[in-house]
Amino acid sequence: MTAHTSKVAIVTGASRGIGAAVAERLARDGFTVVINYAGDAASAEALAHKIEAAGGHALTAQADVADPAAVRRMFDAAETAFGGVDVLVNNAGIMQLAPVADTDDDLFDRTIAINLKGSFNAMREAGKRMRDGGRIINFSTSIVGTLLPTYGVYAATKAAVEAMTHIMSKELRGRSITVNAVAPGPTATDLFLKGKTPELIDHLAKMAPLERLGLPDDIANVVSFLAGTDGGWINGQVLRANGGMV
Ligand code: NDP
Repeated sequence: MTAHTSKVAIVTGASRGIGAAVAERLARDGFTVVINYAGDAASAEALAHKIEAAGGHALTAQADVADPAAVRRMFDAAETAFGGVDVLVNNAGIMQLAPVADTDDDLFDRTIAINLKGSFNAMREAGKRMRDGGRIINFSTSIVGTLLPTYGVYAATKAAVEAMTHIMSKELRGRSITVNAVAPGPTATDLFLKGKTPELIDHLAKMAPLERLGLPDDIANVVSFLAGTDGGWINGQVLRANGGMV
């Protein structure tokens, strides 16, 4: 067996949606990719096969990002298989909308656990273990800018991720590791489309002057830039990728 010499990227929530597009793109860019997922093993395995068939390297890793021990095991698995981690894409997330006054404790706790604690769990592990020269790419949302009703708790988790992004980029001084966040606008995935009428989808799509929804590949392009050589001077920033919506 030939040793892998490529850099290693963990992409959380990569079984579908934006994460799957990111994993596929980073594999094409030459990264060995760890495809994390929560429940959908079949989709994660299918993506790994697709990447391998195209000549790339991929490994699937089940881990609920809300569980710190599971996140640690995922980093262990990446280090055992490939010798280290160079890129973390903190993409896993959930979104369920409700006015603040109608949000129950369970929804609040789940959203915090996955979006905020989950991002923190992986950032902490990366901060301890990532190889020098690495890249941490977190996920926020352009809702932090538009501040639309019903997005209160979801936006709060992402605003917190943005704050940690800025601070961690300073804490990693001396290791040549950049920490940035991507903040997509409405993007055509289950997370965005589920439960919305065609009229509402059209309305939200037209908010951007480019007058369409983002596609997972639009976001994967941005992550590829931040993970690659050309993005190396970007640090401590939030890149909104939304066709100009906000
Ligand atoms: P999807 O719902 O399409 O996909 C979510 C992915 O996250 C799935 O692979 C899912 O895995 C995984 N996931 C969910 N919960 C967990 C968990 N606890 N642990 C590990 N993995 C988990 O979402 P998107 O692709 O649309 O969203 C990706 C990111 O982009 C999110 O952070 C979201 O907040 C952000 N975003 C999305 C926007 C949009 O319009 N789509 C706009 C702005 C930001 P499984 O299938 O195995 O459960």
